[in-house]
Amino acid sequence: MGIFDFLSHAFDIPAFPWKSVVLAFTISRFLWERYLSKRQYKHYLNEKPPAVLASVVDEKKYKRAMQYARTKAHFGVLSSSFSFIISILIIRYNGFARLWNATDYSWMDRLATSNHWWSVSKAITHSCMFAFAGSVFSTIIDTPFSLYSTFVIEEKFGFNKTTMRTFWADIVKGLALGGVLLSIIIAIFLKVIIAFGDNFVVYVWVSFIVLGMVLQTIAPYVILPLFNKFTPVTDPELKSKIEELAASVKFPLKNLYIMDASRRSGHSNAFFYGMPWSKGIVLYDTLVKNQTTTELLAVLGHELGHWYMWHILIQQLVNYAVSFFHLALFAGFIRNNSMYSAFGFSGEHPILIGYLLFTSLFEPLSALISFGNNLLSRSCEYQADAFAKRLGYGDALAEGLIRLHEDNMSPLDFDRWFSAYHHNHPPLLERLEAIGYGAQTTDKTQ
Ligand SMILES: [Zn+2]
Repeated sequence: MGIFDFLSHAFDIPAFPWKSVVLAFTISRFLWERYLSKRQYKHYLNEKPPAVLASVVDEKKYKRAMQYARTKAHFGVLSSSFSFIISILIIRYNGFARLWNATDYSWMDRLATSNHWWSVSKAITHSCMFAFAGSVFSTIIDTPFSLYSTFVIEEKFGFNKTTMRTFWADIVKGLALGGVLLSIIIAIFLKVIIAFGDNFVVYVWVSFIVLGMVLQTIAPYVILPLFNKFTPVTDPELKSKIEELAASVKFPLKNLYIMDASRRSGHSNAFFYGMPWSKGIVLYDTLVKNQTTTELLAVLGHELGHWYMWHILIQQLVNYAVSFFHLALFAGFIRNNSMYSAFGFSGEHPILIGYLLFTSLFEPLSALISFGNNLLSRSCEYQADAFAKRLGYGDALAEGLIRLHEDNMSPLDFDRWFSAYHHNHPPLLERLEAIGYGAQTTDKTQ
């Protein structure tokens, strides 16, 4: 008897209250997150910027930022309570089983005729239909909330740049693209599991690593252009300064683009893409417009730090290790009859459903893992800040970060627990302190 066989039998306990356990996890998580939000809300009531930044942060702007934070917090109570109720109803009334039965069509039997490697068995088409119906369902649930958030809240605070037309086009494109991608992922997942039986763990794992790399590589060329427009940077001064910075750390910069992020939102950012030997930098047009060239170079210096110190690779390796662990544990649940029947699957045991149920059982462990990921990511942020400082951009980075926070109306004052649980970046004040910026703030007033 193999290890997975052993685990399958060991965990298959008919008397175990599978459903109550998942309900308890869902309720605890909701209560815990509401508690944290409540702690954080107290900080939003304080409308004065923290004393250290009193001289650099505009008090009026900060007051408005706190109004924005409170509005979002109130809305968060509503939207998270609603999705909590939906989750509870889905678990309590066997929502997965109902959707599974509702997406069982007879044409799927007719489609599964041949035995070639490329033929799709009913197990695959049915799972894809189920997943697609699930994403349509969650889009229908989410859309009223994102409509309100985009056209009422973001609009009121001047961030919304999207039109109704773009909004709906994004939803349709997202559903279509998500349907295609999800179907590919599910088909690979199921084919590999069916083909390799109990040894599927390593094969599924490797397939997903390869698929992830392919998607990451083609996304900037195939997927992102569906949503945004990319234009090469033409400003010769900006271009040569960025090239100079990239060359100074031997970054293989090939393409430099500006993305029309302002079409949708006023929030700013920048990112890299491409192969290890040929990279592209994408700047949000909002970043170019709102920051001075030095501040923009400082932000890029920080991003280059992540690249230089292999942070992206390190975080990716950690993710690979975690997903291996996740899959290996799942292998011990794949034939767990008592888990399936607790959620309304008595005859059929679809693998995809088993995976979804297992993921909800794994939830508390996922929360711990994401906390660990946050810790790792925070330490990477400090290192990238220090890197930018070594490049000579310490003060510019600090000022750029302050401006970014001001423009995005981000709060500066955080509850320790709230921040530790939710954020993968350290709070601004802690970053400024680490950069050593606070010491010079007095000069700024002159
Ligand atoms: Zn960073």
